[in-house]
Amino acid sequence: MNINTNYQNISDSYLFSTIAKKVNEFAAANPDKKIIRLGIGDVTLPLCKVVVNALKSASDEMGVQETFRGYGPEQGYDFLKTKIQSYYKNNGVQLDLDEIFISDGAKSDLGNILDLFAQDNTVLVPDPVYPVYVDTNTMAGRKIIYIDANAENDFLPLPDKSVKADIIYLCSPNNPTGAVYNKEQLKAWVDYANENNAVILFDSAYECFITDENLPRSIYEIEGAKTCAIEFCSLSKMAGFTGTRCGYTVVPKSITSGDVVLNKMWLRRQTTKFNGVPYIIQRGAEAVFTEEGQKEIQENLNYYKENAKIISDTLKKHNIWHIGGKHSPYIWLKCPNNMTSWEFFDYLLNNVQIVGTPGSGFGKNGEGYFRLTSFGSRENTLEAVKRLDEFLG
Ligand code: PLP
Repeated sequence: MNINTNYQNISDSYLFSTIAKKVNEFAAANPDKKIIRLGIGDVTLPLCKVVVNALKSASDEMGVQETFRGYGPEQGYDFLKTKIQSYYKNNGVQLDLDEIFISDGAKSDLGNILDLFAQDNTVLVPDPVYPVYVDTNTMAGRKIIYIDANAENDFLPLPDKSVKADIIYLCSPNNPTGAVYNKEQLKAWVDYANENNAVILFDSAYECFITDENLPRSIYEIEGAKTCAIEFCSLSKMAGFTGTRCGYTVVPKSITSGDVVLNKMWLRRQTTKFNGVPYIIQRGAEAVFTEEGQKEIQENLNYYKENAKIISDTLKKHNIWHIGGKHSPYIWLKCPNNMTSWEFFDYLLNNVQIVGTPGSGFGKNGEGYFRLTSFGSRENTLEAVKRLDEFLG
């Protein structure tokens, strides 16, 4: 056999393993020091009660002959798709049920969607970026071009008409920067994609953190998006499903290439390569979209947002430039005293035992920046800002 040699073009040291290694070494050498982790974007609050109850009763159903279920529809049960359809409707977006595909999370579908596109497409990726977009395309041997996200454009790059791209990744609210596109800015991307016969892969994994009604939570709030954009969303951050695994992908029927409808292609792909998300998990996900579920998850989201405010207020007090944290769980800060991202990482770990994520791990424009997350416990967040305050002061 011959291997896919494109895998040799991806770096084998994953950002978070390097961080874990450094932290473990520090912990072994300093067993008396308490380390506070504000690095990895994983949630810490448990699942909501209404979700746990739904998971339990669905498990009971599976143990009874009359209610047992085997293979379900590959694209998800209607009971969950109907709930997601209503969720979109509340934001003024009308979707057909067969445009919604239930997945085991956004990461899988962000990679799997590439099955639909030819290898010779040019991929446009903002820098800095969630590493999955780059790695999945590198594995497939596609040409990637980067568009600079930096302080000059508020980390929200706009299309450059002289650049020709076929597949465009956008993530808003953004990981790692927390920056959020407004409607006019997204419209510029939608127009560019439609004019260039390109597709936008829109990652809305953090839409639930948006509180400003004027900011778009879905790309379909933008006129023209249904002919060029596929949207990926996840219950991971919305409802603490990082370990439970459920998300959804929207492929509008009006995206075509010649006379080929992408929605049909994706259905064909999914029915061939995917056998659906477990019934029990889909019942848990359904509960998230009930009135009670929305109320309970909002309490958790508010908790994380308050953590973000606590961190942001301390950075402001010490005049540390930062964005994000408002409609996002991520705070993106400029490392003080022109330190590099890894220098600042070591500086924080050694002096105040706070772990964050070096911005350079997300791309060259991330150099000199640093990401903190608000997903920690309140106690740890308060302890972290106390240490920062004393140290920086
Ligand atoms: N998209 C972005 C931007 C993310 O940051 C993450 C996870 O951190 C994902 C997608 C993956 O989400 P999921 O847990 O649904 O696979």
